[in-house]
Amino acid sequence: MKSKALLLVNVGQLLTLRLQSDKAVPRRAKDLRELGILEDAAVLCLGGKIVSVGKTKDALRDPWLRKNRKRVLEIDCKGQVVLPGFVDSHTHPAFINARLVDFERRTAGATYEQIAEAGGGIRSSVEPVRKAGKALLAEKVLDGLHEMAEQGTTTVEAKSGYGLTVDSEVKSLEAIREAASRRPGTVVATLLGAHVIPKEFQGRSQKYVESVCTEMVPQAARRKLAQFVDVFCDRGAFSLEETRKILEAAAQNGLSVRAHVGQLSETPLETLLALRPASLDHMDHVSNEDISRLARQDTVVTFVPGANYFLGLTQYPSAREFIDAGVPVGLATDYNPGSSPTASMPFVMSLACTHMKMSPAEAVAAATINGAWALRLQDRKGSIEPGKDADLAVFDVEDYREIPYWFASNRCAFTVLNGVLVASGGSGELG
Ligand SMILES: [Zn+2]
Repeated sequence: MKSKALLLVNVGQLLTLRLQSDKAVPRRAKDLRELGILEDAAVLCLGGKIVSVGKTKDALRDPWLRKNRKRVLEIDCKGQVVLPGFVDSHTHPAFINARLVDFERRTAGATYEQIAEAGGGIRSSVEPVRKAGKALLAEKVLDGLHEMAEQGTTTVEAKSGYGLTVDSEVKSLEAIREAASRRPGTVVATLLGAHVIPKEFQGRSQKYVESVCTEMVPQAARRKLAQFVDVFCDRGAFSLEETRKILEAAAQNGLSVRAHVGQLSETPLETLLALRPASLDHMDHVSNEDISRLARQDTVVTFVPGANYFLGLTQYPSAREFIDAGVPVGLATDYNPGSSPTASMPFVMSLACTHMKMSPAEAVAAATINGAWALRLQDRKGSIEPGKDADLAVFDVEDYREIPYWFASNRCAFTVLNGVLVASGGSGELG
């Protein structure tokens, strides 16, 4: 996975996501629509970093480039659109099986919670993960990462959460690390031991929470297997009090925190916001008072409308209320076998436009720079600026608005992940 010097020229629209004001804050309100578009542009990448960004004609006049042109892999983009690689800040790739029975039951009218009560849902992914060897699990994670890169994603947050024992959560995080080491992209691992209460702890959730706090979290921290700890805080999952305990244990062990919240029911956010989470995700049910609170903090609200789509819900998160109030919002796939089996950020952006009334520009910023903020990677990821990691997505379209427009089709021509060029369509690394 060596990164070569790489020059992209004749880029029709280069979405730099650079703000005029150079403010180092997540994008809110009208800043969310500022894409910093350069036309007829070029990008030069060296050693896995972006070194210059400008007009094609200026790039070609650069003295360094003139001298070294033969050593540089030069790609004529012929008017295509180039944007920062997507930052998919919420995925669950450490699973073994598709959940086809749940899928079919849902077509017959069963709800998410009815399926969970009947033994489907998250718990039905647990046995196969507990039984699986680490190598098989790593292969499954790798399949997900590969599919994401094919659709323009260069940075992925990957959660454990289908093992629900100390050993199998650790195994899942090791599988994520193993898969990440075999790909050129960036992977951020999250311990989601508190995904659901496993059936052997039914009615004794306190005991399980204790095990998460005193065994899983310290092990993940000590062995540097995760940067974040996440909790599914909702009806039928973990209570606010349990969530607070787990996230405080995370902070005490030096890990950052995030949470699934407000998917099925409303949870007041004050307690969680005091823990300064990098992101709160789903957020279908949130009070106006909490929206005002969020507008005063740098916590990103990450919407995962793929889950609303796949669960057949008519309601989507009210993105406009959040954006208009000044809350920084992100978009992610929630790639998982039960409620959102998609690796496609363009499809999620399309849902954001059609069902959540976000503009195409807002969807781009939510899927790139605010995704980077949601992972605390804003200094390295999410925009095309000198000094940042060479993470690019090249789309075979003339106008960036086509990315969410052509839904359920993949127009991504290739991606650059930390300077390594990977073509879409299975032809592998080129650079
Ligand atoms: Zn999730």
